[in-house]
Amino acid sequence: MKRIVILGVPIDDVTEQEAVKYIDSLMNDGQLHQVVTVNPEFVMEAQRDQRFMQVLNDASLATADGMGILLAARWLGTPLRERVTGVALVERLAKQAVIRGWRIFFLGAAPGVAEKAAQVLRHRYAGLQIAGCYAGSPSIIEEPYVRQQILDANPDILFVAYGHPAQDLWIARNQTLINVPLAIGVGGTFDEIVGIVPPAPAWMHTMGLKWVWRLMQQPRRFKRIFNAVVLFPVSVLMRRFRGS
Ligand code: UDP
Repeated sequence: MKRIVILGVPIDDVTEQEAVKYIDSLMNDGQLHQVVTVNPEFVMEAQRDQRFMQVLNDASLATADGMGILLAARWLGTPLRERVTGVALVERLAKQAVIRGWRIFFLGAAPGVAEKAAQVLRHRYAGLQIAGCYAGSPSIIEEPYVRQQILDANPDILFVAYGHPAQDLWIARNQTLINVPLAIGVGGTFDEIVGIVPPAPAWMHTMGLKWVWRLMQQPRRFKRIFNAVVLFPVSVLMRRFRGS
């Protein structure tokens, strides 16, 4: 598998199908694995937060979540073939979980949303086994309680929807203690599946304009979107012209 690096953050050149196939192989090796879905905001956050940078570097699989990453990869002369978003991974893994009998735990999002997302997926993928759902919070004080919920449920896969970097740091701190073979930070995926944030029209998604849609839906995200669509490309281009 080819792995490229953007501003210190590794990203794997995988298609959606290859990502699921790879995860399938990881599930049988007896180790614990963390998957990250990297978007431009992740890369910018990692420039400021060394712990987050380390977690992204230690992940077993890092997918390119967003057109911005694909464009940057091309500018740097290391093109990637396909975008693999958190929503796509969750959907495909739910489907694969039915085949393999994997049980999934849904952690995070607003109260009740994880349950609804799990129900939607169970409706789509008949036979999907939900190990548990819990909103909780990424606060360190709540960690022992959240861990206990997951230990009691004993899932094979854990989806964590606390937004980055909190969700990815949460997994890195807790995965060995809860002993879940595969854990993925999935951001706003539960909200999207449930329809709290209406999905961007297909044409916007295809053209890489999902950020315009998000700005229209959630104007409070302006700073984050500015980071992703202005600071990120500028930083990548500066790196390219410096040739390092
Ligand atoms: N969230 C949460 N607890 C928190 C902060 C966020 O459960 O303390 C959830 C929030 O409800 C949403 C998700 O985390 O479902 C964040 O989604 P976002 O699209 O912001 O993810 P990001 O793009 O930051 O990865």
